[in-house]
Amino acid sequence: MVYHRVYSGERLCRRCFIKTFEKRVLKTIARYGLLKRDDRVAVAVSGGKDSLSLLHVLKKIESKFPKAELFAVTVDEGIEGYRDEALRLVDEFTAKLGVRLVKTSFRELFGIGLSEIVSSRTFRESGLAACSVCGPLRRKAINIAAREAGATVVATAHTLDDIVQTYMLKALRGELGSSDVGLRSEGPAIPRVAPFRLTPEREVVFYAYSVGIPFQTEICPNASNSMRSSVRRFLTEFEEKHPGALFAALKSFENPAQKTGKTLRYCRSCGDVTSRELCRVCEILQAVKPL
Ligand code: SF4
Repeated sequence: MVYHRVYSGERLCRRCFIKTFEKRVLKTIARYGLLKRDDRVAVAVSGGKDSLSLLHVLKKIESKFPKAELFAVTVDEGIEGYRDEALRLVDEFTAKLGVRLVKTSFRELFGIGLSEIVSSRTFRESGLAACSVCGPLRRKAINIAAREAGATVVATAHTLDDIVQTYMLKALRGELGSSDVGLRSEGPAIPRVAPFRLTPEREVVFYAYSVGIPFQTEICPNASNSMRSSVRRFLTEFEEKHPGALFAALKSFENPAQKTGKTLRYCRSCGDVTSRELCRVCEILQAVKPL
């Protein structure tokens, strides 16, 4: 026995763990209709364990669907002394798998890198955390690069833990029901899906080690003690004491009765799809970009 799934009681050898892990990803895709047989899938990769594991599994799945196409998209946020190793790992891993890699950067798209933003006076005065700036900008960068490269969908490596955290954060901000998290929705924006939606994070770590994926372990120097960190700590502790709680929480959040259906609009500055007058990225850039 090498892996004990506490919430289900299963005790698995390495081979069976890998098999059940990959099968669950395939089942998740089918259950939620995340991908279509002829999709051009852009996998968002950062060089961490989650995204490289996702690329590894989806590459295997893609080989069973001849009409589907898969490529990787990576973003250089411009974080000095940190991103270089991750970008090298992404380069090497995509080359090993034979997957096309599309690269973009904050500097190329927004005219400024993250390190430059966080050292500016305007950023300090904005009261924003580095991650609150980085997250929306990276999301937009991936969408732009994926669309330009011809993708029909973006696959992200958000795990069960991440998805529940996001629903929880939305609940705490009074925004629950504004949109689904990690599920495919058709509309003007490129759909984003999370095939690890039913996979706990600790299983992704174990998978990465089990199949021998080299990933970046260094922590980002800008990682902040955000609201998400508090929610993450609480949920991790709760899951340890009450195995299966994350699955139960996801089920509750997925209740369609909670949806309120906000109307989509177009950002008055960049024209991107948003639920506000100004999209979050334009709002952030106006607040933090040095004049
Ligand atoms: Fe960006 Fe925060 Fe992640 Fe660093 S920890 S890469 S700043 S989101």
